[in-house]
Amino acid sequence: MTKRILILHTGGTISMVESKSGYVPSHNFPARLHEQLENQNLGGTELPLYNLLETEHLIDSSNSTPKDWVAIADLLQEHWHKFDGFVVLHGTDTMAYTASALSFILGPIDKPVILTGSQIPLAKVRNDALSNLVISMMLAANYAVPEVCLYFNGKLLRGNRSTKLKSMQLDAFHSPNFPDIAKVGIDVDMRQDLVLKPTKPNFAHYTFDGNAVMIAPMYPGVPSRVVDALLDSNKVQALILQTYGVGNPPDANKALMDRLAKANQDGIVVVNLSQCLIGGVFQGSYATGDSLNQIGIVSGVDLTLEAAFTKLHYLLAAGYSSADIKQLMPTALRGECRHD
Ligand code: ASP
Repeated sequence: MTKRILILHTGGTISMVESKSGYVPSHNFPARLHEQLENQNLGGTELPLYNLLETEHLIDSSNSTPKDWVAIADLLQEHWHKFDGFVVLHGTDTMAYTASALSFILGPIDKPVILTGSQIPLAKVRNDALSNLVISMMLAANYAVPEVCLYFNGKLLRGNRSTKLKSMQLDAFHSPNFPDIAKVGIDVDMRQDLVLKPTKPNFAHYTFDGNAVMIAPMYPGVPSRVVDALLDSNKVQALILQTYGVGNPPDANKALMDRLAKANQDGIVVVNLSQCLIGGVFQGSYATGDSLNQIGIVSGVDLTLEAAFTKLHYLLAAGYSSADIKQLMPTALRGECRHD
């Protein structure tokens, strides 16, 4: 039976055109896309059938907010039963955030959702848009990958393990702590052993609060007022602390450590993430890191920043208590982190 996929267009470079002030989203994209795909397929049947849907506002994904994650999830849920797979066209700047968020919002699923985009617009003669799009369509239609993935430049990555690593290269995305699910060259080398099991979805709608999760980077000499300023609202429910190496904070800074201990006592979930992209947190390998164990701060193991941020948003929106969230952050819900 011929497969049918839904392409959901949200904006990003893939569909942008030049303006006086640089690339901007364009509304002429559907016509351009149909024409290019028609040329590719030339009446053949290699490409799956597709429908194209656009979000209400096409954006540069630098402007993405948690509301956009929910809008995309809602559209996917609404059309789930009609298609065999889904391709979400998205800007690269925050694609890893949206991919991570969708993995949690949708929960276990039984069809592929593949986010893709490009570094050069489809409107340019030399571009990476067409191949990223065509390959994503073929993967979404023909492979059993029932999870949220990100396809870019020959690699299919687990969405909530991916991060944008390069601003100027075509191989922009990387999965620092999990193998690539597939490598696409002359053949498609699919690591089916890594793929999550298909599960009938049980969708829900969530409301996210953009003020709920803050991020505090540690740097030499960081004053405690950085954390103070970030927590200066009773809407804040979680804080990601970006520490050094295997999860070491500057524990000699007593004011900072006291402020973090108070945040934990106030019910704010503080999660320890490493500034290193590869390897993650081993909280307590050093006495500096163990200081966080002493004050109730949980390890974010090897979560990417994008996965940790969106997972906290999701767990808060789903109504979990601080105690439950502390248990769940270092536990894989959708394959997003290692098991300690
Ligand atoms: N600024 C663009 C965006 O994220 C970058 C891209 O798509 O490559 O929408």
